[in-house]
Amino acid sequence: MKLRHHPYTLQLRHAFGLAGSTRTSTPAMLVELEHEGVTGHGEASMPPHLGESQASVDAFLRQAAPLLAAVNDPFQTEAILPALDSLAPGNTAAKAAVDLALHDWIGRRLGQPLHRLWGINPARAPLTSFTIGIDVPEVVRAKVREAAAYRILKVKLGRDWATDQAMIETLRAETAVPLTVDANQGWRDREDALRRITWLAARGVEFIEQPMGREQLADTAWLRERSPLPLYADESVQRLADVPALRGVFDGINIKLMKCTGLREARQMITVARALGLKVMLGCMTETSCAVSAAAQLSPLVDWADLDGALLIANDCFDGIGFAEGRIVLRDRPGIGVVPRGLA
Ligand code: MG
Repeated sequence: MKLRHHPYTLQLRHAFGLAGSTRTSTPAMLVELEHEGVTGHGEASMPPHLGESQASVDAFLRQAAPLLAAVNDPFQTEAILPALDSLAPGNTAAKAAVDLALHDWIGRRLGQPLHRLWGINPARAPLTSFTIGIDVPEVVRAKVREAAAYRILKVKLGRDWATDQAMIETLRAETAVPLTVDANQGWRDREDALRRITWLAARGVEFIEQPMGREQLADTAWLRERSPLPLYADESVQRLADVPALRGVFDGINIKLMKCTGLREARQMITVARALGLKVMLGCMTETSCAVSAAAQLSPLVDWADLDGALLIANDCFDGIGFAEGRIVLRDRPGIGVVPRGLA
């Protein structure tokens, strides 16, 4: 089993405004796992605020190489992935890159899409939301027109409330599609948060993602009891072990491959969330179609998909899932369903 990796910088189509920052590119690492003449593809995406970098992923993958060589059978995911996880804490995107490459390799080796190997019906793939970052009204209007094919828009809020309200009013003047709101922990006071959610509920918003700080679980539980809209955890949930504590605090969780170490654990999280009565959303970072198409293999199992990461970049080096009138299209291709386009 040979693992190769090379750094890649994702160029964003628009500067991406979040509650805490604005950026124009995202560092990534592309991974290829070769064994018996078959190559599986994987990717790590490292938005800077999550603490991984091209240097840290490079170091982790070098550390992982002997482990992969020792097992030397990509089918042995239950041997490889837990051992990989225990090599070092954190490094979730680096771990996800290997998880994706292994699963892609398995599908290619068997000549089957991953969704078929896992008993998932591609005809049940959901709509995806399309994310609109915080920006000035002219740019927001241009972004909405660009997103005309998508039937749910996700709005990034959580700066000052007057700016947030202006953002929603600008959107509502352009479009009547359902909106979802991601506050990215931007609201600190629960009474304020409740007033804001009530205002948003009157403007066609479906749910709120991470209204308050990741550690503010008691405040969020208070808010959930009173909120007219469902609340979804994003920053408050990373791994499988985080899920049980969120019952009664949030209505659902946002699972992302780069947070949870990949497809193996993402599937487990879906199962556990369902058992606890939590709704499930599947999200992504800014990523190429490699990681987005991997996540999309699981999308028929979830309530909401936010898999627009590859649509937000200008140099996607993979062809992957399609979209038809805003709905995810899982193609009949082996593995995670991607074809490299060559490095742009
Ligand atoms: Mg979020």
